[in-house]
Amino acid sequence: MLFADFNMPTRIFFGEDALERGADLIAKAGRRALIVTGKTSAKKSGAEAEVTALLDRLGINFTIYDGVTENPPLLDCHAAGRMAREQNTDFVIGIGGGSPLDAAKAIAAFAANDILPEDIFNDDKRTERALPIFAVPTTAGTGSEANNYSILTLPGGLQKKTLKSPDTWPVASFVVPKFGATMPNSVTLSTALDAFAHAMESYLSPRSTLFSRKAAAFAAREIFDVISALPDAYDAAMRERLSLAATVAGWAISVTGTGFPHPLGYSLTLMDGIPHGRACAAFAGDFITYNERCETGRALLAEFAAAIGTKPRVLAAFLPGVANVELALSESEIARHVELIAEAKNYPNSPYVLSKEEIFEIYRSHFLKK
Ligand code: NAP
Ligand code: FE
Repeated sequence: MLFADFNMPTRIFFGEDALERGADLIAKAGRRALIVTGKTSAKKSGAEAEVTALLDRLGINFTIYDGVTENPPLLDCHAAGRMAREQNTDFVIGIGGGSPLDAAKAIAAFAANDILPEDIFNDDKRTERALPIFAVPTTAGTGSEANNYSILTLPGGLQKKTLKSPDTWPVASFVVPKFGATMPNSVTLSTALDAFAHAMESYLSPRSTLFSRKAAAFAAREIFDVISALPDAYDAAMRERLSLAATVAGWAISVTGTGFPHPLGYSLTLMDGIPHGRACAAFAGDFITYNERCETGRALLAEFAAAIGTKPRVLAAFLPGVANVELALSESEIARHVELIAEAKNYPNSPYVLSKEEIFEIYRSHFLKK
């Protein structure tokens, strides 16, 4: 007999008039909002103008914090959280890619808890519920709008750590594919590769469920269909498919977490400046090859690839190919990359569990300077 649970506490409004349809939920959240964005994307995409027009109409006061940088630093979120507390903020609206959305979650938690930066990861120190969070994505990738993860860069700038709490699910997310239309093609592709990584890594996770696998297979099929033709430009229909798929895959990882391409990619992002999606996709071939070494991995990969109408071998060549990460690292640089991610919790989260020596093997195979 089949059985499964389904937990999705965030209300997702998808489509052109998403903000309009969810306005009631914003109106109920309070009288003073903090809008959290990056430097330009919220404005360029048109999302900020739509949100502020709605807040004006609802008579809600707001302040804009546009200081979020890519891979948001924990300390910045701590400072912004304090500012939110001092301004008696009632709720937080994140507008942007995964960086502003993840930052909004952490800021909402810090606003409610006057604690040290590192204590945000400690469930016993975070005694108060985070302020209500709303999310308006402008990329189609991380799926942060559909999960409770906030991935933060630790002081020093070389490691990431994930905040995950029952109160960091957005109350509602407004997924409007047209907000992605201003993304350069390179950002559209990289963020789509991130969403594909979520789908594939989630599908293989031992924690996957009937629902999460269906969600992951759907998302992967949509994304592969759109990106495998390597279009020169992404039209509105393609953006719609990518946005929906990214949101669905973002929910799938709320069930399962991610597999080893994610931590391996974090080092490339933080040390070498490779965007998150491309950094994960660089290891998609390894994820497939190592997991094919065990029976469960082989079976799940065959099932996953069949569900999207392709073969594991095709994915193993295509994904790192489009990620196109070229680096030439010395042995000691590789050792530094590995040390920074060796303690990540993702390794048991696939049928094949990588050893530290195998992480070295993978980095050397791609990046060792000849
Ligand atoms: P991002 O870091 O939010 O943004 C990347 C770049 O794209 C920025 O320069 C941004 O500009 C720009 N941009 C975003 N939307 C745009 C638009 N519509 N038009 C023009 N430019 C736009 O990218 P991301 O890949 O979405 O997020 C990556 C972050 O999410 C990482 O920190 C990663 O660890 C995290 N992540 C979270 C989850 C999760 O489940 N919560 C999952 C995977 C990854 P601005 O700087 O002006 O905003
Ligand atoms: Fe990701």
